[in-house]
Amino acid sequence: MSIQNKTIVQLHEELVNKTTTATKIVEEVLMMIKTDKKDNFLLAFDETKMKSVAQQIDQQGVDRQNLLAGIPYFAKDNFSTKGLTTTGGSAILKNYIPPFNATVINLLNNQQALMSGKSNLDELGMGGTGTSSAFGTVPNPLNKKHLVGGSSSGSAYGVAKGIVPFALGSDTGDSIRRPASFAGIVGYKPTYGAISRYGMLPYSPSLDHPGVLAKTIEDSAIVADVLVEFDPADFTSLAVEKKGFYQNLNNFDKQLTFGYLTNVHNFLPPNLKKKYDELYALLKKNGVMVKPLEFSQPLLEALSPVYMMISFSEAVSSNANLAGINFGTRVEGDRWEAVMKNTRTTNFGSVVKRRFLIGSLNLQKENQEIYLHKAKKVRRLICEEINQVFQECDLLIIPPSQTVAPLIGNGQEFDDNQNNQTEYIDDILTLGNFSGIPSITIPFVVDHNKMPIGINVNAAACEDLKMFQGAKYLETMIKQLESQVLDHE
Ligand code: GLN
Repeated sequence: MSIQNKTIVQLHEELVNKTTTATKIVEEVLMMIKTDKKDNFLLAFDETKMKSVAQQIDQQGVDRQNLLAGIPYFAKDNFSTKGLTTTGGSAILKNYIPPFNATVINLLNNQQALMSGKSNLDELGMGGTGTSSAFGTVPNPLNKKHLVGGSSSGSAYGVAKGIVPFALGSDTGDSIRRPASFAGIVGYKPTYGAISRYGMLPYSPSLDHPGVLAKTIEDSAIVADVLVEFDPADFTSLAVEKKGFYQNLNNFDKQLTFGYLTNVHNFLPPNLKKKYDELYALLKKNGVMVKPLEFSQPLLEALSPVYMMISFSEAVSSNANLAGINFGTRVEGDRWEAVMKNTRTTNFGSVVKRRFLIGSLNLQKENQEIYLHKAKKVRRLICEEINQVFQECDLLIIPPSQTVAPLIGNGQEFDDNQNNQTEYIDDILTLGNFSGIPSITIPFVVDHNKMPIGINVNAAACEDLKMFQGAKYLETMIKQLESQVLDHE
């Protein structure tokens, strides 16, 4: 029987009951990887190692307690893997083989999870489309004319296609939670610092969050149970109390209040807004409070510019080592300055170059106060407003996307280039990165062509368990909607 589309829970059951083996799982994963190779979703995998780890697991047998033993997963190619290339989706790192593992990889190795390959991403995590990797575009496996989104594009592909039940991703603005919406899967970004960033290539360290893409909320909780762990090697690591996310998933407290933002809700496409209204009505009918809340409009409109100011500045600074001297595929020149210039000019793609240019401009002494410091002050105000929101509600619902995944080649590749009044709705997930609150996207509705749109749930910082429980409860409500299909516009 095929393992495709099986969840961690199902595969674990089969491994324990010996109706399958880790070796068989690896064989099937390898077959699927090879079949879909042209979709560029995977950049590297170590067939020999996968087989030998599987063999070891089969010899020992799988313990009923260890839910991840023998479970295959992909890691976004910005997580360092010892002995296996880690490119960040960039030509500049195409030959880079790290001498160490990211903490998350070690944690999963300790559970005997099967690292089955490195998934493609928008170059250095910059982008939201899956089109800006140096190693090709990753399409949406549900319909290849559409984008899958990014930057965790290969991870979203692998999970949505059912090759692996989960994958590691990273989220600086929305890079786990928006592709999850486009691919009809679950995308979890933890509280900032709850999962170690050690060994993850930086995009913008004050906004970067490692996280999980998976088919189900249960599976996300299982992986989170392993990954949420204090790490002394990460100086921003936070000791979040471990509360058994999986075990306690169904203990939703109906006293909790859901909230949503009116200045987002009122501007949604009418057919999507209708579905949100139906869901809120159903929650209320079940005795759960739902509160409309207003977020400061100027702060919402500041989301995109503040995101660009902070993330581009941090990006250029934290990637200064990619210059062909210590790191990076060197392109020679007559002086060291020329080496750096040639290396960077040849190896970076246009999105990265543009962002580095703007970042450098922000970081010039005379611009720091007017651009960067101002942006940081506004970020502080955004965080205060978010804290205010969680005085009013326990679980904040926001739309991770207003539409299904856009078509490839529709001009949407340049998603940081929009200029319309409600642009902030497309960048609304950055709220979670600015403030570090836990945030999860789960499937919500589909259009007439079965393309999905997700829904996103947030809780106050360190309330990851509450967030999981809220999402699980919401899922049961969504399943009770009269229809999960959007009306024609
Ligand atoms: N789409 C956003 C961007 O282009 C988010 C990227 C991310 O979260 N890594 O920067």
